[in-house]
Amino acid sequence: MARAEWLAMGSWVVVHGLTQAPVSFAMTVIPLLAMLVVHNVQTFTRSDRVWRISGLVFILTFVASYKLLFVQFDPLYQAFSLPFAVITVLGASLLVRNTSDYVVTAVLTWLIVWPYASQDVSDARLYVLVFGFFSVTLGWVNNHTYLCSLKNLLMLENQYRVMAETDFLTGIFNRRALMQRFEQVAASSACGFFLMIDIDNFKRVNDQWGHEVGDQVLCTLARCMEAVDRRHCYGRLGGEEFGVVLDTCDQAQALDYVQRLMQAVRNVDTLPCRFTVSAGLVIFAQGCDVSEVLREADRHLYAAKKSGKDTVKYGPLLSSVS
Ligand code: GH3
Ligand code: MG
Ligand code: MG
Repeated sequence: MARAEWLAMGSWVVVHGLTQAPVSFAMTVIPLLAMLVVHNVQTFTRSDRVWRISGLVFILTFVASYKLLFVQFDPLYQAFSLPFAVITVLGASLLVRNTSDYVVTAVLTWLIVWPYASQDVSDARLYVLVFGFFSVTLGWVNNHTYLCSLKNLLMLENQYRVMAETDFLTGIFNRRALMQRFEQVAASSACGFFLMIDIDNFKRVNDQWGHEVGDQVLCTLARCMEAVDRRHCYGRLGGEEFGVVLDTCDQAQALDYVQRLMQAVRNVDTLPCRFTVSAGLVIFAQGCDVSEVLREADRHLYAAKKSGKDTVKYGPLLSSVS
């Protein structure tokens, strides 16, 4: 849209450079300034409604500017008003994001320009009306097809993004998505905690109860993470290892989250077997090396396993604490 608007403003400047019409400086500059103002409103607004309306206002300002030129210089009107109206109506079909907005814009464009119908040609008015009808209709078909394709494309893009970020088995973030979020939090937050979780004796669960129950245990852990606190960013790192990025600098809060999660896991009674998890918790500072935080959390996790499992070990990230 922005590029098309620059093209429209460029065409206005070029036409004024070429035209022999006795157009005053003000009549050249005022419409251009009006288009620039509307263009800037559209560029900097955050409101979708304002964006939409300013897009329509831009097109109509552009059309009205040319109409003023046509009114002042009849030869231009006679020669170019019809192609101008057709090009504008068809061009707008790829710029307006709403079909009813498009129809309003196209009809108004036609009414404002009201293309010249030669007196020398019989039924010239009728031909102009036919041109008007078919260019608006063709534009409407264009606009509708374009919007449908755009919608499908955005939907597909969203589906692929969700698929690329989701762990197939548990439905929570996969390693890639979790690490991306972690990088973002590490860059923007003053500090936070990273929690690495590993299911205890998971191989035994698989061996004793079968892979299917093992999968159910993995999904149940993901559900526990959702139930305990959805605000934190959690995901499956791989196998039976999970991670949580806690966006808090308060160690008591972080530990409270871990304890509640571990208790929720211990309380699960919907599976053929009970299970527990061990965890390593580490604080990180803004701008830290994310892979170093993971290594440190893994060291704490290892210590938790060594000290009998079903527990959490924690401490500062030595390499980033002065
Ligand atoms: P520890 O308490 O020390 O963590 O021992 P563990 O048995 O949990 O750990 P180990 O690394 O020996 O075993 C991990 C097992 O996780 C081995 C692998 O077959 C199983 N596993 C990895 N991914 C999946 C999965 O998607 N589904 C199932 N059912 N099992 C998985
Ligand atoms: Mg493991
Ligand atoms: Mg394990």
